[in-house]
Amino acid sequence: MRLMVVDHPLVSHKLTVLRDIRTDSPTFRRLADELVTLLAYEATRGVRVESYEIVTPVAPTTGVRLSGPKPLVVPILRAGLGMLDGMARLIPTAEVGFLGMTRDEQTLIASTYANRLPEDLSGRQVFLLDPMLATGGTLAAAMTYVIDRGATQVTAICLLAAPEGIAAVEARFGPDAPVTVVVAEIDERLNERGYIVPGLGDAGDRLYGVV
Ligand code: URA
Repeated sequence: MRLMVVDHPLVSHKLTVLRDIRTDSPTFRRLADELVTLLAYEATRGVRVESYEIVTPVAPTTGVRLSGPKPLVVPILRAGLGMLDGMARLIPTAEVGFLGMTRDEQTLIASTYANRLPEDLSGRQVFLLDPMLATGGTLAAAMTYVIDRGATQVTAICLLAAPEGIAAVEARFGPDAPVTVVVAEIDERLNERGYIVPGLGDAGDRLYGVV
């Protein structure tokens, strides 16, 4: 597994405001959106392109465009939805699928409750969006899900990660798997309720309110 921590002052600045308990939902949503675009810029470094010929007003030249099959962006519901617009802004031609996953508050075990993904993901580059890499259970399950359907490259974009979650994903996939995690910062630890410390609280609640 490859791990990329995006070390940039604008990322740190936006993340600090995101963490702050005084930040309201509309501001949280806007900042999450901006942060994702910054992270996605790094996360898409390996996106497949092909060369093609164009003519500028001055001369013919060779350029590049995204090649097929199209990248697939998969927000993990519910909190990953808050990251979709920021990602789609960067790759508007990507296809979008959805995975609904939830974790049992007692056991912290992840399960899938909704799936809107193509059955065949052969050769696809998949970008999973999940703001919090906590225990790693949800992300590892989502990665397994798309790899089992043929995805050849899986990149998870997260706002925050706990060391425990990174270790869990690493342990599941090993060092040579075509799996990358891109994250703004790695925090100290998980608490006994599975929350990232210091973290930012429940990302879904902060984006959309407590339901
Ligand atoms: N999910 C969240 O929303 N926050 C955490 O801290 C951990 C998991």
